[in-house]
Amino acid sequence: METKRTVVPAAEEILGGYFPVLDHGFVSLIDYMGTDESIEQAARVSYGFGTRKTSQTRGLVRYLRRHRHTTPSEMVELKFHCAMPMFVARQFVRHRTANINEYSARYSLMPLLFYKPDYEDFAIQSASNRQGREGDSAPREIYEDAVRRWEEVRSLSSDTYGWLVEEDVARELARIDLPLSTYTQWYWKIDLHNLFHFLSLRADSHAQWEIQEFARVMAGMMKRVAPLSYEAWLDYEFAGEHMSHGELEALRALIDAGDDGVRARDGASLDVEGLKGTGLSKREALELIEKLRPTERPDFELDLSRMQSPEVFQSRMQAAVPGDFE
Ligand SMILES: Cc1cc2nc3c(=O)[nH]c(=O)nc-3n(C[C@H](O)[C@H](O)[C@H](O)COP(=O)(O)OP(=O)(O)OC[C@H]3O[C@@H](n4cnc5c(N)ncnc54)[C@H](O)[C@@H]3O)c2cc1C
Repeated sequence: METKRTVVPAAEEILGGYFPVLDHGFVSLIDYMGTDESIEQAARVSYGFGTRKTSQTRGLVRYLRRHRHTTPSEMVELKFHCAMPMFVARQFVRHRTANINEYSARYSLMPLLFYKPDYEDFAIQSASNRQGREGDSAPREIYEDAVRRWEEVRSLSSDTYGWLVEEDVARELARIDLPLSTYTQWYWKIDLHNLFHFLSLRADSHAQWEIQEFARVMAGMMKRVAPLSYEAWLDYEFAGEHMSHGELEALRALIDAGDDGVRARDGASLDVEGLKGTGLSKREALELIEKLRPTERPDFELDLSRMQSPEVFQSRMQAAVPGDFE
C-alpha cells in the first residue's frame, strides 16, 4: 500500500538501522513524522503548499529559526531507540520535553553490559572546568588498574544480581546494586524544536563526551529528516553564538556600523584588560575571545558503513542476560 504521508528518501534509507555508540550502545531512528515541508505548511497554515520551490522553503525555514518562531518546527517528530549507560540516560532525562518509554528492570532481566571507556577517553580531571575532563589520557597504569577495579565491581554486582534472580527475589530488588555503567535502553520521542535544544546542549563540547557521542549520531539522523532545518540550526544556533549587550559594546568599540556597511575602526584593539575596561568581567572577556576564534562549521553526516540490523544488538543484549531464567 502506498503511503500518503510525507516521506524523505534520505531518512527512509536509515529508518530502523542501528548505529553503534560507545562499546555496547546504539541509536536507531525508528520513526519520524514530517519534514521541512511540514514546517513550511504549518507556518503558512493554508497557503499554496506543494507549489513552492526548495529555495523558498529554505528561505522560510531559515527566517523562522533566525527569528525564533519555533512552533512550526514542533510539527515534526522523531522517535529513536537508544541504548546507553545509565549515567548517560540520567543526563537525557533532564530534557523533559521528550517522551520516554524505558526498558523495565522490574519486569525483565537486565542484560549485564557495562560501559568501559577506551584508554584514549580516560582523561584526567579538568582544572579549569570542574565538570569535565581535560587533555591527554591519564597514565596507562592508572587506566589498567581502573579496568581491573571496574571488572571486580561489575563481576560482584553481576553475581549478586544473578544470585538474587535465581533465588526468585523480585527483579525490582535484584537490580538495586547494578552500577551506573550498566546499559539501559528506551524509546525516546521528541519534536524537532526540542530536539534542537537537546542537541545544542548535548552535542556541545561542554557536555560529557559520552552523551556527545549519542547527540552526534542523532544530529546526523535529524539532518536526513529535515535537512534545511538542520542547516538553519547549525548556522543560527549550534555553530553560531549569542552575544550579550556588553560583548556587543566591546565589538562596537572595534567596528563602526553605518548605513552603508561596517568598517574596522582605525588601529582599534582590545586586549583582556581593554575588554575589562568596556565593562566585561575577566571571565566574560576570555569567553568573548573564545567565541571569536575561528572554528570549523561541524557536520554530523552519518557514516552509513556503521549501520547494522536490529538483530545484531538484540542478540548481544539477549546473550548478556544472566543465566537461563526465562
Ligand atoms: C553541560 C551541562 C551541565 C549540566 N550540569 C548539571 C548539574 O550539575 N546538575 C543538574 O541538576 N543539571 C545539570 N545539567 C542539566 C541542565 O540544568 C538542564 O536541566 C538540562 O540541560 C535540560 O535543559 P532544559 O531544562 O532547558 O530542557 P528541557 O527539560 O527539555 O526543557 C526545554 C525547555 O522547556 C522549558 N521548560 C521545560 N520545563 C519547564 C518548567 N518546569 N518550567 C519552565 N520552563 C520549562 C524551558 O524553556 C526549557 O529550556 C547540565 C546540563 C548541561 C548541558
